[in-house]
Amino acid sequence: MQDHYDVVVVGAGNAAMAAALSAKQSRASVLVLEASGAEDQGGNTRYAAGQMRTVYQSVADMRRLVPDLTESEIASSDFGVYSREDYLEDVMRLTHHRCDSDLVEILVDNSFDTLAWMRDLGVRFQISFGRQAAKIDGRFKFWGGLPFEVWGGGPGLLDAYYKAASTAGIEIVCNASANALRKIAGRINGVYGDIQGKPVEIGAKAVVLACGGFEASAEMRARYLGPNWDLAKVRGTRFNTGEGLKMALAAGANSAGHWSGAHSTCWDSNAPETGDLVVGDGYQKFSYPVGIMVNAAGKRFVDEGSDLQTFTYARIGREILAQPGLLAWQVFDQRAVPFLRDEYRIRKVTKATGDTLEELSRKLEGVNADGFLQTVSQFNAAVPPGDPPINLSVKDGRTTLGLEIPKSNWSYPIDKGPFLAFSVTTGITFTFGGLRISTRSQVLNTAREPIPGLFAAGEIVGGIFYGGYPGGTGLVSGAVFGRIAGREAAQA
Ligand SMILES: Cc1cc2nc3c(=O)[nH]c(=O)nc-3n(C[C@H](O)[C@H](O)[C@H](O)COP(=O)(O)OP(=O)(O)OC[C@H]3O[C@@H](n4cnc5c(N)ncnc54)[C@H](O)[C@@H]3O)c2cc1C
Repeated sequence: MQDHYDVVVVGAGNAAMAAALSAKQSRASVLVLEASGAEDQGGNTRYAAGQMRTVYQSVADMRRLVPDLTESEIASSDFGVYSREDYLEDVMRLTHHRCDSDLVEILVDNSFDTLAWMRDLGVRFQISFGRQAAKIDGRFKFWGGLPFEVWGGGPGLLDAYYKAASTAGIEIVCNASANALRKIAGRINGVYGDIQGKPVEIGAKAVVLACGGFEASAEMRARYLGPNWDLAKVRGTRFNTGEGLKMALAAGANSAGHWSGAHSTCWDSNAPETGDLVVGDGYQKFSYPVGIMVNAAGKRFVDEGSDLQTFTYARIGREILAQPGLLAWQVFDQRAVPFLRDEYRIRKVTKATGDTLEELSRKLEGVNADGFLQTVSQFNAAVPPGDPPINLSVKDGRTTLGLEIPKSNWSYPIDKGPFLAFSVTTGITFTFGGLRISTRSQVLNTAREPIPGLFAAGEIVGGIFYGGYPGGTGLVSGAVFGRIAGREAAQA
């Protein structure tokens, strides 16, 4: 390791590696600092399923990202298209139009080109037949604008990045935490930190912060997200503790976005405090649209079918956090079982079963049994008549009638035993608030001027997501702004 580089990148996840590789392509010397040891290297990216949301217009676009797509797969699939307008509309709608539209346009307009760039670097993509398609009349119909996922998920993405980095001669140092930015005459020109516990000072012409949000700090969660967020389980890495945010704010950076907001979802109530790489994203429980969710009083508290799952899952964690004991049970009957995702069949799952609803009600730990039975009976009386096949690829309009909290789509009675239930709590994925950046990934100061030599990308950036989030956008945001940050930092 030298004591001076053109570009120092803090973090070694998706945004960081996109920045490092892009800076290297612009002929910069690059050092990557990673707080964790080699086994955890790559932050939340290592835990990610790897779904990536991009604009795509045609089968030719599918082939550009997935060259081994076969003729028979094409013939048996309705991939649809996902236009620039679709993408913009989804982000705008889910963020209640609060997002920074300049940043979102950059994200959307560069999404496909950035994935193609990643493909050229060696990242392989595949089609999400398992997660994002429903088989209708013998053909796979894709829904939610999300047919692409990285081959091998988050770990596969990191393997490809690290291989490309090694070929390009990028140094990655593990057990290396940055803890402050070096600033001379208003310009960032390096970092202070620790490597293997020893203090270091590394000079750089520019620094890219890509070291995540603050979701793994219970103290910052309680401080910014509010009461009880300290009790949420962390779905991913324990290393994203907000250090990058703190050092940038201390150096004069402006904050942006939804600091009291976070991406959070249904997560097994007995999952460990932070992510477990063996189980990966298996603790998530995303099939609630084909069932109902009840709280400790046995009452429903959310419209489980308000939209396609990929547009609702990221805000349901907050709803669960507001329930007594931060607890909910998802309840299904046999009609729903064929539609339960793979994560319901893992070994480490908190599950109850009953041949009858009465038997199930006695096994729902922490739930008022009478309240639950009353809820199911009222729900069953409110669903529309008929029993057409369940189709999760479209909003089917099967809404309940007369309930205080409706279920707007996919409402079927819960009456075909044996019955199943799964216990979930709030799992936080990442925080929404962060640093204010320009469309060139420059970190802005409180006067909204670029801080010379400082760039940011990934979860550390604020202003893109508020309240909600369309699935598969986190990795694309990190890759798009990481690629821009690397290029700009190399030219700084
Ligand atoms: C279970 C799960 C499933 C997910 N699935 C998807 C999905 O399918 N699609 C999608 O788009 N998104 C998904 N996400 C979200 C996605 O993982 C993130 O949006 C993305 O990985 C964030 O990338 P990043 O580079 O900003 O941060 P990270 O990948 O978290 O990287 C941050 C890095 O910074 C390091 N670091 C932290 N502090 C310091 C410091 N002071 N000094 C040095 N290094 C530091 C960390 O160790 C880490 O390596 C998922 C997340 C989880 C947890």
